[in-house]
Amino acid sequence: MHAQHPGTNWAGNIAYGARTLFTPRSLDEVADLVAREPRLRVLGSRHSFNGLADTDGVLLSLAALPQEPVALIADDVVRVPAAARHGDVVAELADLGVALQNLASLPHISFAGAVATGTHGSGDGIGTLSSHVEAIDFLGADGELHRIARGDADFEGHVVHLGALGIVVSLDIRVVPAFDVAQTVYEGVTWDAALAEFDALTSLGASVSCFTTWRDVERIDQVWVKSRVPAPAPDLSAFGGRPADGPRHPVPGMDPTPCTRQGGVPGPWYDRLPHFRLGFTPSASAEIQSEYLLDRADLPAAMAALRRMDRRIARLLHVSEIRTMAADDLWLSPAYGRDTVGIHLTWRDDAAAVAALLPDIEAALPASARPHWGKVFSMGAAEVHRRYPRLVEFADLRQSLDPERKFVNDFLAGLGL
Ligand SMILES: Cc1cc2nc3c(=O)[nH]c(=O)nc-3n(C[C@H](O)[C@H](O)[C@H](O)COP(=O)(O)OP(=O)(O)OC[C@H]3O[C@@H](n4cnc5c(N)ncnc54)[C@H](O)[C@@H]3O)c2cc1C
Repeated sequence: MHAQHPGTNWAGNIAYGARTLFTPRSLDEVADLVAREPRLRVLGSRHSFNGLADTDGVLLSLAALPQEPVALIADDVVRVPAAARHGDVVAELADLGVALQNLASLPHISFAGAVATGTHGSGDGIGTLSSHVEAIDFLGADGELHRIARGDADFEGHVVHLGALGIVVSLDIRVVPAFDVAQTVYEGVTWDAALAEFDALTSLGASVSCFTTWRDVERIDQVWVKSRVPAPAPDLSAFGGRPADGPRHPVPGMDPTPCTRQGGVPGPWYDRLPHFRLGFTPSASAEIQSEYLLDRADLPAAMAALRRMDRRIARLLHVSEIRTMAADDLWLSPAYGRDTVGIHLTWRDDAAAVAALLPDIEAALPASARPHWGKVFSMGAAEVHRRYPRLVEFADLRQSLDPERKFVNDFLAGLGL
């Protein structure tokens, strides 16, 4: 079994403290590691920005496990290998004539890593990527393979699992018939119009993202609208918006080559739903990310609070993205129990300054703001528990599945798990 130094996360702001990164080549090798190692965690594609994936024991990559080809196991359910990146399997899904319901901003992340953290894209009517999971096959702390499916007791506790319940080997995901999307970027939309009619704005496409640098108090820098074809590109003139005169990167001034096609040109779902293309560096790259997921009804209060801090935020920021997602019933989902709006912040690579600012942002945001599990936040365990009300039941579930705490790390212990 290959062993190497674990290195850093994608952003380079976390140097993993694990002793070794093993790359097992069979499930038996994985089971041997589970039996032998007192502490272990699985690494996905390393795109989280905090210590969630780390351990003081050993890390595992599942990238070399023999994989079954992606297959339809029902008319609208596919089975995917846990370690597969979204972008790795979209061609196979397209061959099957099906589509994932949504994607995050990038196709570079693994299915298991995305689901473990409640990762989401945008869309009033679309839940987080985790909410599309129908079943999970995982190797438990007892070394046995387990399967948990929708309808089973505590399924809703197993899906967004923070890597704490076992080693996920495959996921069954609900899919829809393949569809085409046209993406248009608008400029000039005013904050006042957008906030006065936010529901009208976000319902203009299947997926809508508002990008702001917080430098212009009057206008949103860019609004990205992804519409299912044959719906025409919407008219945003009532909001002050007009289509951009060329391709854009969400970070103003950056080369748009890494971005998916814009300008209203139709294309397959997997080539338009993410903002960034596989094979290119997504986002700004020298960066740290934070995100707070709020009750949608709290958006006006949240925006008013952040606008009062706009200069302090803008100094440290590449760009901020505001997205929506539908409510779900997964215990640790950021959208648990309420339609949700996410306020995302892509920071410049200045960890100390970001750490100094986050407590003020968290104090200013409404109390419904839940931190994204895979991004940087500062609030303590008591506050996280208040915002994720099922965390206490998740702690019991974790304890019952892993009483020897093999999959617990400092991040989880800090949350009282
Ligand atoms: C440029 C960029 C853009 C992003 N855009 C978005 C976005 O649009 N929306 C959003 O919500 N988030 C976004 N994120 C955050 C990202 O989606 C999450 O951090 C996600 O968890 C990353 O998946 P990963 O495969 O890299 O997982 P990792 O960061 O490697 O791991 C995350 C967690 O999953 C666990 N895990 C991974 N694989 C397994 C497995 N097989 N079994 C058990 N546990 C496992 C790990 O132990 C860890 O706890 C973005 C991040 C970056 C860097």
